[in-house]
Amino acid sequence: MLTVMKFGGTSVGSLEAIERVSKIVANTQGNKVVVTSAMSGITNFLVACCEDLEYMRKDTLETFESKHLEVAKAMLDEKQYAEFMKEFKPRFDNFKALLYDEKAAKNPYYMDNVTSQGERFSSLLLCHKLRSMGYKSIALTSEDCGIIAEGKPLNGNANLRMTETNMGINVMPYINKGYIPIITGFYGVTEDDLPLTFGRGGSDYAAAVVANALNADMLEIWTDVDGFMSADPRVVPHAKKIDEMSYGEAAELAYFGAKVLHPRTIEPVRKKHIPLKVRNSFKPEEKGTLISRYREYSNELLRSAAAKTDLSIITISSPEIAYRPDIVAKILAKISENDDSLYSISTSLSTVAFLIHNNDVKSTLSKLYEMDNADVEKIDVTSDVALICCVGDDLISTSGVSGEIFSAVKEVDANVMMISEGASAVALNFVVRNCDVLPVIKILHERFVEEDEDYAESE
Ligand code: ADP
Ligand code: ASP
Ligand code: MG
Repeated sequence: MLTVMKFGGTSVGSLEAIERVSKIVANTQGNKVVVTSAMSGITNFLVACCEDLEYMRKDTLETFESKHLEVAKAMLDEKQYAEFMKEFKPRFDNFKALLYDEKAAKNPYYMDNVTSQGERFSSLLLCHKLRSMGYKSIALTSEDCGIIAEGKPLNGNANLRMTETNMGINVMPYINKGYIPIITGFYGVTEDDLPLTFGRGGSDYAAAVVANALNADMLEIWTDVDGFMSADPRVVPHAKKIDEMSYGEAAELAYFGAKVLHPRTIEPVRKKHIPLKVRNSFKPEEKGTLISRYREYSNELLRSAAAKTDLSIITISSPEIAYRPDIVAKILAKISENDDSLYSISTSLSTVAFLIHNNDVKSTLSKLYEMDNADVEKIDVTSDVALICCVGDDLISTSGVSGEIFSAVKEVDANVMMISEGASAVALNFVVRNCDVLPVIKILHERFVEEDEDYAESE
């Protein structure tokens, strides 16, 4: 049995947290591999440093060093601390050189390099804590493992095939010898050997990539909530934990804003049918949420809702688009030249509407303006909208359900601006203004999760 265990920022954010998760690792049966995020707050701090390097670099190095060394000193004895410093020092010297390297700072992947530094030090802490408890452990960076990433700066994708080959060579021998490898989350390396991050929150995805590469039996994502919940508990205090979900449900919700999992976490594990658990590192006795190929039918109309905010609708008018699919194909080809994410597409007789991120509007428009006037009559942009993603058991198949959902939305005076129903087998998605997201999620939860629960209890 091989379990890949990923710990998020708050799970490794302090001395107590590191001690807690070390116990969780130690108590897990079979072979295990750990993937870790940076200590909480560290990545934000590194992002801020990149934004004003000249002003921030000295402070960053001091704070960074003292935060990690304080924890190491408190949890290791003198001899163990000396061993820790042997690995800490060269990593820290590299980090320092990077912050003063003006040539490297001009590289488009520089920010990836700087912001991925946190993971290189949290992994060291965890590794040396486990060693101090008597376990054989080794801290491996994504470079050491050969986790290969491709794509634009700050938005990499893993090359699963190459990563599997590399990890078979670089990591498997340690597992076979009884070591617990502690691997840096968040980033891979390009073919030019430059760190490339997987987007914010990317350690979940990195862990799924590691689970795929090692053909793990289980991926555990340890975080600060009880599991995947019916809504973000910070928005809906009554949100309840979901016991089981299918890959499809979790993938839709993660892609459309459920921050508990990075948007692309499911794909690498789904490909190899590796089950995934979301668990609370502060309450290891809780079972968490199991995400896998199958789940029991649960008779819950709405199981969970998420929202992806800060999107824009681009509406393109063109005469009788419905009779000319070639125009839709041309528009799609133009937009895809930028490689930006498309969150939804809908068409009518003479318009086609796309949903993209606010930040991608400018680059998308510049592509569309290159098109022939005969194909594109008019382009309208509505910014600051959000896509609400609802996942439930009979949401798509039960007649009248969407009517009930939209009448709840109407109760909070929100206007539905775009709908996608039927495209996914498990999700009903629609678009409202950014400012309507909170009331809409709250009313949906109240009507279809909380009232449903009350009804089930009273039966
Ligand atoms: P980590 O540092 O462990 O990766 P994150 O902060 O990235 O943790 O993700 C966990 C947070 O995701 C939770 O604290 C919660 O506020 C938020 N969240 C958003 N949607 C959901 C959801 N549907 N279920 C659980 N948590 C969610
Ligand atoms: N440390 C990175 C971030 O804060 C990656 C992660 O935590 O998943 O975005
Ligand atoms: Mg996260």
